[in-house]
Amino acid sequence: EVAQPVLDVRSLSASYGHVEALRSVDISVGRGELVAVLGPNGAGKSTLLRAIMGLIPNHGEVLFQGNALTRRKPGAAATKGVVLVPEGRGIFGPMTVLENLELGAYSVGRDKKEVERRLTSVFGLFPRLKERFKQTAGSMSGGEQQMVAVGRAMMADPKVLLLDEPSLGLAPRVTGEILDTLGALSQSGLPVILVEQKAPLALQLACRAYLLSLGRIVATINPREVKSHDELAQYYFA
Ligand code: ATP
Repeated sequence: EVAQPVLDVRSLSASYGHVEALRSVDISVGRGELVAVLGPNGAGKSTLLRAIMGLIPNHGEVLFQGNALTRRKPGAAATKGVVLVPEGRGIFGPMTVLENLELGAYSVGRDKKEVERRLTSVFGLFPRLKERFKQTAGSMSGGEQQMVAVGRAMMADPKVLLLDEPSLGLAPRVTGEILDTLGALSQSGLPVILVEQKAPLALQLACRAYLLSLGRIVATINPREVKSHDELAQYYFA
């Protein structure tokens, strides 16, 4: 028996002018799952996340808990709790860590207690942010800035978390720290879609990986069945 996915993407396509960047993509993620989207530069990974969020024109269907996010506008997915941590993080450098985190909880409004609860939980995930809450985000290390970006997303109390290459430009150690946190979040029930170029890292965490090439899903990979890097390379060059 397969549980209903929390996010079910069906035949999703998107173009930039005449460039078809996404061609009829089907992917899904359920409770407790972390799925990876792998693929080389330009495969359409970021485009997929932007299309799911309704940030670019697209067609196809995105179902959230069985209901279509039809006529998707920017914001439609976010309102339902589908939250994107974009490539390049999108944090506000001159603002403090705390201010950046609080921005993530804008939908809470004036309920200070709720904001406090969420902050406590984010500081639990990333103790470094608690130590540095007064520091400007722009003066943090790359890894710490990525923690701010993930932390800010968690402040929105997401129902699905999408991440666009959180490891980009980061040292292996801090990358591991961040990916471990994402793994823990997914195990606690949060569905996670992780776009990642570093396939071996993503496959350590993912229950399923989709390989995107030229805008299409060309393979769905069970990480437990990938025995070696050579085998993974076969998928890339098939
Ligand atoms: P990367 O890892 O390099 O970011 P990606 O897999 O995320 O790659 P996308 O950024 O989604 O790939 O790009 C997919 C295709 O769409 C590429 O051919 C890219 O050149 C093109 N593309 C992306 N953004 C735009 C844009 N704003 N205007 C025109 N073409 C675009």
